[in-house]
Amino acid sequence: MEKISSNFVEEFIEEDIAAGKVAASPTHIVHTRFPPEPNGYLHIGHAKAICMDFGAAAKYGGQCNLRLDDTNPSREDTEYVDAIKEDIHWLGFDWGDRLFYASDYFQELWDLAEYMIKKGLAYVEEQTSEQIAAQKGTPTQPGVESPFRNRPVEESLDLFRRMNKGEFEEGTLTLRAKIDMANPNMHFRDPIMYRIIKYPHHRTGTTWQAYPMYDFAHGQSDFLEGITHSICTLEFEVHRPLYEYFAKIMAEYKGTEYTPRQIEFNRLNLTNTVMSKRYLRDMVENGIVRGWDDPRMPTLCGLRRRGYTSQAVRDFITTIGYTKFMALNSITLLENAARADLNKKATRVMGVINPVKLTITNWPAGKVEMCEMDNNPEEEGSGKHEMPFSGELYIEREDFQEVAEKKFFRLTIDKEVRLKGAFIIKCTGVEKDAEGNITNILCTYDPESKSGMPGAERKVKGTLHWVSAQHAVPVEARLYNNLFLDEEATTDSQRNPDSEVVVTAYVEPYCAELAKTQPFHGINNKEGYNFQFQRIAYFCVDKDSTPDHLVFNRTVSLKESK
Ligand code: ATP
Ligand code: MG
Repeated sequence: MEKISSNFVEEFIEEDIAAGKVAASPTHIVHTRFPPEPNGYLHIGHAKAICMDFGAAAKYGGQCNLRLDDTNPSREDTEYVDAIKEDIHWLGFDWGDRLFYASDYFQELWDLAEYMIKKGLAYVEEQTSEQIAAQKGTPTQPGVESPFRNRPVEESLDLFRRMNKGEFEEGTLTLRAKIDMANPNMHFRDPIMYRIIKYPHHRTGTTWQAYPMYDFAHGQSDFLEGITHSICTLEFEVHRPLYEYFAKIMAEYKGTEYTPRQIEFNRLNLTNTVMSKRYLRDMVENGIVRGWDDPRMPTLCGLRRRGYTSQAVRDFITTIGYTKFMALNSITLLENAARADLNKKATRVMGVINPVKLTITNWPAGKVEMCEMDNNPEEEGSGKHEMPFSGELYIEREDFQEVAEKKFFRLTIDKEVRLKGAFIIKCTGVEKDAEGNITNILCTYDPESKSGMPGAERKVKGTLHWVSAQHAVPVEARLYNNLFLDEEATTDSQRNPDSEVVVTAYVEPYCAELAKTQPFHGINNKEGYNFQFQRIAYFCVDKDSTPDHLVFNRTVSLKESK
C-alpha cells in the first residue's frame, strides 16, 4: 500500500496492514479506542490522544471506539461521562454507535480471572498492601513470594467468589496473578488483578464488590472490542509486556490467534500548565476557578469558553506531533494556533480596555458621522459595518504619552495620528485631575483626512483604535493570563495572582449588538462568538453574558508577548 503515515504510530499501523494482521483481526479494519476514565473533564492532553486515536482510524478507513474506563466506582460520575462525549464531538470526532464501558466486560473479566485461578495462574492474597509492597523487591533485587502463593486452587476460587459477596472489607483480600517474583520488570512480580471496593458503581450498582485493576481490565477490554491498535502514552511502555501476557491468556481462553497491539507515544506537557485531573478537580472544588470550564483551565471546555476554536486545538496537535521522547511544549504554540485560526474567523471591532477620554475641540457640537469598517479583511464577502464618530471619544490610555519616549509613534502633544477608519487628529494639550492623572486629551481633527475619501490617505506614523464615548457600550472584560508564571509548573508552583483581571471595557455598538443577538455559535451553539478587538486581542462572548451586562473573555492577545 501507499505510505501515508505521518508519524511512527501510523508507520506501525501500516506495517500491520501490510503483514495481514489487520485483515485477520475480528473486525478486519484498523480499530482503535479512546479510553478515558470518567473521573474528570478532558484536557488538552487528552486532545492529543483523541486526535491520534480517531485520526489514525479515519486515515486507514477504520473505526475508533469510545470506551469509558469505569473500573474505580468511587471516583466516577455520569456528569463526567456527558462532558467527555460533548468535548469529543466538539473536537470534531465521533464514535458512531460504539460507546462502551469497561464495566460492560466485568462478567467476561471475572470469567477469565476464574480461568486463570483454575490454571494455577492466579491466587487470592491475604496480606495487606504494605506487606505486598515490602516484598516487591527492587529492579535489581528479586521479591519475596507470598505465603499464599501456592494455596490450593479451590481455596482461591472460594475466596475470590466471596470477595465479591461483600464478606471481606476493602483493603483486605486481593487476587494476584502468579507470574514471577524475580522478573526484572516489576510489573511481572505477581501484579494485583482484583481488589475489593464497596462503593456503588454508577452503572452496575452493587453487583460487583471486587473490581479489576487497570492492567487486567484494559487489555482484555481491547481484546473484547477487537481493537487492533491500543495507542497510549509512554508511561504504559513498561506495562506492555504484562499487557501482552494477559492478552495471550485471553486469546488462549477464547481460542483465537488475534491479540491487540499496544503502541506508546509521548504525552503532552505544556509550559505554565498543570494538567493532572486531580489537581484540576481540587481547584474546582476549592472554588479557585469558576468551574471545570473556567477559561484558565487546560480543559477542553475551558479552552472553548476562553474562545479557542476546535480547529485551533487540532492544528496545535498537528504542530507538536507524536514521538517517543518526553517533551515540554510551549503554550505559545497553542496560542499561535488560536491566533492563526481566529485571524481568519473573528469579526473585527473596536474595543478600548483601558480608556481615557479624548475631546476633539474643533468638532461641530452634537455632530455624529458614520465611518465604514471591514468586518474581516481576511474573509471574502464578510462585508462592512458602520461605526459612529463624534467629538468625545475613548482611546487606550497606553496609546498616549505626554512626554513621548524614543520610538513612541502613538499620540503625544503636538503630534498627529490617524484614528483607524476615521480622521487624522493632532494633540493640543491635556486636562488633569488634582493628583495629576490625565482625564482628557485635547485634540483637533483634520476634516480633509477621512479614511476612504479621495486624497485623504496622507501618511502619519501611528494609527489608533477608538470608540465614540456617547455610543460605546460598557462591558465586563475578563483578561486571562497563564494560571502559572513558572514555565515548568507543578502542583506545588505558585498560581499567577493576575491570571484573571476584570475591567470595564468600551465596545463599539456593532460589537454589543452582535454579542446580544448571536452570542454563541459553533457545534451545539456552544462557542462564544469570536471578535478581534483591533490592535488588542481576540475576545469571545462569555456564557455569563446577559443583554444588559455583556461579558467578554480575552482568548489571546493579538501578538505574542515577549
Ligand atoms: P490525568 O493523568 O490527567 O489524570 P489520565 O491519563 O488518568 O489523565 P485518562 O482518562 O486515563 O486520564 O486518559 C485517557 C487517555 O488519554 C489515555 O489513553 C491517556 O494516555 C491519554 N492522555 C491523558 N493525558 C494525556 C496527555 N497529557 N497527553 C497525551 N495523552 C494523554
Ligand atoms: Mg488514567
